Amino acid sequence: MGSEIEKTFKFVIVGGGIAGVTCVEQLSSKFPSEDVALITAGPHIKAVTNYKQVSRTLEEFDVEEKPFSVLQEKFPNLTVIHSAVKSLDTRSHCLETADGRVFGYKKLCICSGARPKLLTQENPYVLGIRDTDSAQEFQKQLSKAKRIVVIGNGGIALELVYEVRGCEVIWAVKDKAIGNTFFDAGAAQFLIPSLEADKAEVAAPCKRQRYTTEKPNPNAAHTFTADEYSRGQKPGGVQPGSALGPDWHRGMELKGAEQVSRRVSVEYQCEVEQILTSEEFLVSSKQTLKPDTGSWPVYVQLTNGKTLGCDFVVSATGVVPNTEPFLHGNNFSLADECGLQVNDHLMTSEPDVYAAGDVCTACWEHSPLWQQMRLWTQARQMGWYAGRCMAADVLSEPIELDFCFELFSHVTKFFNYKVVLLGKFNAQGLGSDHELLVRCTKGQEYIKVVLSRGRMVGAVLIGETDLEETFENLILNQMDLTAYGEELLNPNIDIEDYFD
Ligand code: FAD
Repeated sequence: MGSEIEKTFKFVIVGGGIAGVTCVEQLSSKFPSEDVALITAGPHIKAVTNYKQVSRTLEEFDVEEKPFSVLQEKFPNLTVIHSAVKSLDTRSHCLETADGRVFGYKKLCICSGARPKLLTQENPYVLGIRDTDSAQEFQKQLSKAKRIVVIGNGGIALELVYEVRGCEVIWAVKDKAIGNTFFDAGAAQFLIPSLEADKAEVAAPCKRQRYTTEKPNPNAAHTFTADEYSRGQKPGGVQPGSALGPDWHRGMELKGAEQVSRRVSVEYQCEVEQILTSEEFLVSSKQTLKPDTGSWPVYVQLTNGKTLGCDFVVSATGVVPNTEPFLHGNNFSLADECGLQVNDHLMTSEPDVYAAGDVCTACWEHSPLWQQMRLWTQARQMGWYAGRCMAADVLSEPIELDFCFELFSHVTKFFNYKVVLLGKFNAQGLGSDHELLVRCTKGQEYIKVVLSRGRMVGAVLIGETDLEETFENLILNQMDLTAYGEELLNPNIDIEDYFD
């Protein structure tokens, strides 16, 4: 690092997303007379508002983009530095920012988030959605589009295909069913009619079934090495903003150039073979590719042999943690998907460096009912817990892993249905050692319970089921439910009363 250290702070937090801001709030209020700094690249910070603890582990909140001044006014001991961190030297405990300033720290927390794992870099016809800027770019391109191809099967793709109007959407997923990150094939089947109809269908009679599953799909996601990752960085590119979250499309008209309402078709079990410009397509189609009708600026060749022309491609195939500026010259342990490995105190492998949110990978021995997913709620929980751990470290106090890491829980909305996910909701890691109970009322609710050795270990609740608290308790107390069998989901039994 060339320049002199401008100032040394007791605590430095990098990143103004949910994780970073929550960590800042924790530390600035706990240590009002210590110097705290937030260094962030994006133009705004993300603040949690309307926080509501729905049950022991379920929480709901809104997130608002706010100017830095809001935080600084609240915490006089906080300095916000608006610049991207360019490099970190963990031995001398200092960071250099893109504008050439150097800051020292006693304790550092990296909350730099993640960015879309784009199918290809620098292709103007391939868009990722991450922050406000990229969502606006998507909206702009969409307004002129007649057909788009969406690649990916996670939450962003799910929301996108549902929200887009006035444009044909071809959705390519690598799995046998849509929404594989969140659902099994049964839930996908429940949701599919929502893509076809503009209005929810009339509720049909209740159906209940019990079965055991086939072997779960192995996760075929590509793993990036640190090297691949850094090659993917755009030097001098736009500073990354914070990740959007639920309802990122609210207030944004996602409308294409056509007069159609929703028009979605799904290509299952395929991945992208290559992306071609119209010129490349013309050259190659003479040899091997089947011609697509019409002329499009970009073509996507899928592994199922189809080549589809479209106005642009949305790459929604997951994220890569933003670790690159912090790695050079240091000794961070990285996880397979390149997150900074953290232990049960959210400490990285470098002394005095913590990490929280999308940038980190939880590498402690997890509770059997919890898994990391790069979601808003976990970013908030990790930011908050990292702040507490840093404080405990400074005060030499012991601290135990927070209760929120006991049970995975997430509330969201897909296709306008309330969705609650609890524990091992997709029987993750259970192999064949589980059975499922399902209750489904078409157009109204889908309830799935995952049982292992007679105990509830996970659940998917779609619709207004009102069962989340009861199921959360049943999962947390690990009561033996063998005696109840299918009655657990009997719609004529008020299960809440049953377990009171
Ligand atoms: P971020 O919010 O990404 O914040 C990272 C911060 O670090 C930013 O302020 C950025 O400017 C800053 N930064 C990055 N690099 C540097 C650097 N070198 N120097 C300084 N600062 C830097 N989650 C849900 O739970 N539900 C949803 O429905 C949902 N929908 C989503 C929809 C979209 C389109 C996207 C993109 C994500 C969605 N997520 C959702 C995921 C959720 O938004 C993220 O998990 C969460 O915001 C991560 O928070 P974070 O604080 O770790 O990172």
